[in-house]
Order: sequence, then structure tokens, then C-alpha cells
Amino acid sequence: GGTIGVLGGGQLGRMLALSGRAMGYRFVTLDPTPDSPCGQVADRQITADYHDVEAARALAEESDVITYEFENVDADVTELLMAESYVPQGSKLLYTTQHRLREKRAIEAAGVKVAPYAEINSAAELHEAVTRFGTPCVLKTATGGYDGKGQWVIRSLDEVEEAYETLSRAKTELVLEQFIHFEKELSVIAARSPRGEVKTFPAAENIHVNNILHLSIVPARTSEHIQQEAERLAMQIAESMGVIGLIAVELFLTEEGELFVNELAPRPHNSGHYTMEACKTSQFEQHVRAICNLPLGSTELLTPVVMGNVLGQHVEPLLDWIVQPESEQQADGVTAKVHLYGKHEAKHNRKMGHVNVLAGSVDEALQWIEASNIWKTNE
Ligand code: ATP
Ligand code: MG
Ligand code: MG
Repeated sequence: GGTIGVLGGGQLGRMLALSGRAMGYRFVTLDPTPDSPCGQVADRQITADYHDVEAARALAEESDVITYEFENVDADVTELLMAESYVPQGSKLLYTTQHRLREKRAIEAAGVKVAPYAEINSAAELHEAVTRFGTPCVLKTATGGYDGKGQWVIRSLDEVEEAYETLSRAKTELVLEQFIHFEKELSVIAARSPRGEVKTFPAAENIHVNNILHLSIVPARTSEHIQQEAERLAMQIAESMGVIGLIAVELFLTEEGELFVNELAPRPHNSGHYTMEACKTSQFEQHVRAICNLPLGSTELLTPVVMGNVLGQHVEPLLDWIVQPESEQQADGVTAKVHLYGKHEAKHNRKMGHVNVLAGSVDEALQWIEASNIWKTNE
């Protein structure tokens, strides 16, 4: 037993709390939005800004263990939480993964490749680096980006001034990355506990639409060798960085079979939602196990699966599908499990839920997704 405090009240916190409550833990979440997705299922929500030190102190007082469901946690708040409660993941992991340059250096220090990159501090430096890397290349803000926000794909030298002007408004360092003409994007989630046990979930093949995750396909449609290599790299990163809890590792796979790490996330990851029904242990249960120093659960895959994200524009077609009489979600050996996050407004491109489509093969699951009307409006 005990109380787990969660900084952040989004869907990741919600699914963490649902999972952890089944294991007997109590949950308190801190989030600025009343009735947040996590607050709805937690024992209690403290409604306050993430930077609110008093609120963080209240969270610390109520919690035996503290975790976070987003990585942009204030450094001062983290320090306070560490002084007043137990934060097994520590502040170093946050410090590293909050900043793309620090993160890339940590990945390289683990002996793992990232796409060639350069730190950018002026338009002149950008011009030089774009010339060196060739186009296209990708300029990114070092902090704060998600779903492709804070990025600019530079397609010609003419764009250098505008790209620099626009992204430097974010008042953070910039990083230029060589564009990787990847064949596939993969991700692997690893868990590590304080006692040093490490386990990885099977690699997922990820398909993005408009820089937002659309589908995760497991097993990934690559060779066994590539899948194992991706899992090995994730394990190597988790061990080298001394991760506690989950670390999600996003990778690019090239046609030549090379793997480059794109970025990390020190928390449950959208591309790991497939584990909820398709693995012996879900990523959320695994995170609870890891931060509570329990033995890690088996990550064995029970069935092929495709996870489809439900964005704001997909909610109506999803609800139309749910109310169909024949929609016991069991067509032709396919089982579709719907998860909704309890968000109040179905805004365009907002993550509202996901569907895990379990089938005899990923092709059958993909055919089911293709045939269903849910993702027809993707733009
Ligand atoms: P997330 O929501 O995953 O945190 P993010 O805003 O942090 O997204 P990235 O993961 O860095 O962004 O990039 C988003 C997507 O853009 C990648 O999944 C990939 O499809 C594409 N991309 C990013 N960097 C590169 C690159 N160097 N070469 C090719 N494609 C890239
Ligand atoms: Mg990111
Ligand atoms: Mg990403």
C-alpha cells in the first residue's frame, strides 16, 4: 500500500492511477485543470499550477512516493519534492531529458547513435550547419517541444533566416539535426528498478500523421534481429543513465538496418499503450512496480496488436461505431478495446483516447482499422 503522488493529471497519469489502484495504491495528482483525466480516477486532486511550490509541498506531504507523467517539471519543484518526499526517478533523469542537447550527449555516452546534430546559437551558425548537413534538416528547440511543435524542417538555405527567427523566439537553445530518411520509426520502453532489474517491452513500429502518433504496430514489421537490437539499445540507455521507472526510446531505422535514437521520454509513452491488453504486464503497472522497487513483471507479448490513437476529430466516428449493435468489438477474431481519457473538449488533434486492436496478425488488425470508419478523417 501507500500513496503515490503524480505530478501532472493527463491521460498518462490517469492510466497509471487506474493500474496502480488495482495494485492497492492510493493516488494524489497535481494539475492546474480541475477534474483532470487523472484527477477523475485518483483519490484526490490538488488543483494548482505545476510551478506552485506550496501545492508541490502539499503533494509531498500526502505522498510516500512521487512520480511525474510529463517531463517538463520545474527544477525548483523537483528539488523541493526530493527534499520533502521520495522521488525514486531523481532529478538528473529529468534534467537530462528536458533538454535535447543534454539528452543526445547522454545517449552517446551510453554508446548509442543519434542523428548527426549541432548546437545552434546564431543564424550564421545555422547557415554553416545547414551547409554542412545538407537539406533537408530539422531545426528543433532544445526544450519544451512535443507533437512536432518547436520544429522546422529546413528544405533550402533560403529558409535559414526565417527558421532561426521563428524558433529562437522560444528563448531556448536550438539544435539542428540531419534529416534521417528512415524506413521506419520504432520505439522501445524499458523499465529499471532501484534494485537494478531491467526489462524491455517488445519494440513498436510507429506511424505518425502530422507529427502526432497515429498507429503503433506490434510486433514491428522488421526482422527479429532489428527488434532485439532496438531492445538492447534501450536497455543499454536505461542502464547507462541509471534510470528508475520507465524510459521510452524513440528510434529511426534506416534502409541499411542502422538504428539512430531520436529522443527519450522518462515516463509511460503513447507508443506503449498497446501493452495494456497485449502484454502480461502493462507499461503502467511496470512503472508502478519499478518506482516502488517491486520485482518487474513479464513483458511477454500475448497477441499481435495495433494501437490507434483517437484524436478529437476521431471521437464522433468512434462513438458511432461503439453504439452499433454488432459492435461487441469481436469481428472475425479481432478484439478492439477502447480507452477514453475523460477529457471534456474534443479538440482537433487532441489526444482523447486510443483503441487497441488485438488480432491473429498485425495485418488483420491493420485491415480492421482500414475498414473501420474511425480514422477516415485524419487531417
Ligand atoms: P513527441 O510528441 O514524440 O515528443 P517531438 O515534438 O518531441 O514529438 P520529435 O520526436 O523530435 O518531436 O519529432 C517528431 C517527428 O518528426 C518524429 O517522430 C519524426 O517522424 C520526425 N523527425 C524528427 N526529427 C527527425 C530527423 N532528424 N529526421 C527525420 N525525421 C525526423
Ligand atoms: Mg518529444
Ligand atoms: Mg518524438
